[in-house]
Amino acid sequence: MTQVKATNIHYHEGNITRDERWKALGTKGVTMWFTGLSACGKSTIACALEQALCNQGVACYRLDGDNIRFGLNKNLGFTAEDREENIRRIGEVSKLFADAGIVTLTSFISPYTKDRDNARKLHDEAKLPFIEVFVDTPIEVCEKRDPKGLYKKARAGEIKGFTGIDDPYEAPKHAELTIDTSKHDLDACVKMCLKALADSGLIQMA
Ligand code: ADP
Repeated sequence: MTQVKATNIHYHEGNITRDERWKALGTKGVTMWFTGLSACGKSTIACALEQALCNQGVACYRLDGDNIRFGLNKNLGFTAEDREENIRRIGEVSKLFADAGIVTLTSFISPYTKDRDNARKLHDEAKLPFIEVFVDTPIEVCEKRDPKGLYKKARAGEIKGFTGIDDPYEAPKHAELTIDTSKHDLDACVKMCLKALADSGLIQMA
């Protein structure tokens, strides 16, 4: 875990509780953490889920792997250390969004168990709900889809350290929800996510 560098800093408590903040917003915060191979369907499901939640009037926000690398994480690449820092920052940012009362959808390959577990731990310690969604689509299907041509490049040796090809993907063992997008269409995948949120008492089923 990254250590705090600064000295002489003190946590400043606010005047309102989380419950008061959530009540004012009319929603409950949670992080729904999508993990899986490139092209397994994380972003596609998160986008459709965001739309479904928005249609129900639920405050939500999507933190997406590539998008975040254009801004907050623009100084990070794909080495093991950079991947760890990438996920560490997303864990922290998603915690803040969830604390604010937002249904937060993160879609990052997040291949290493330790990094995902750290994100979960941050939420646990802050008493915030964390729902890990393992988008468990077989690599053959992901590679056949290859919407960004990345598998092709990785097979040709043009991308090094590509998850599933020459970098490991450590599959979650205790995900709250597992979805194989080769077996269920997008609509069904979104319904599974909505049900998981509803079962945890975070939203109401429409
Ligand atoms: P990731 O974010 O995991 O890299 P993307 O969402 O960018 O993956 O790409 C997944 C691809 O799989 C898209 O082209 C999408 O249309 C396709 N796809 C086919 N079936 C599904 C499904 N049931 N759920 C999600 N994506 C699907």
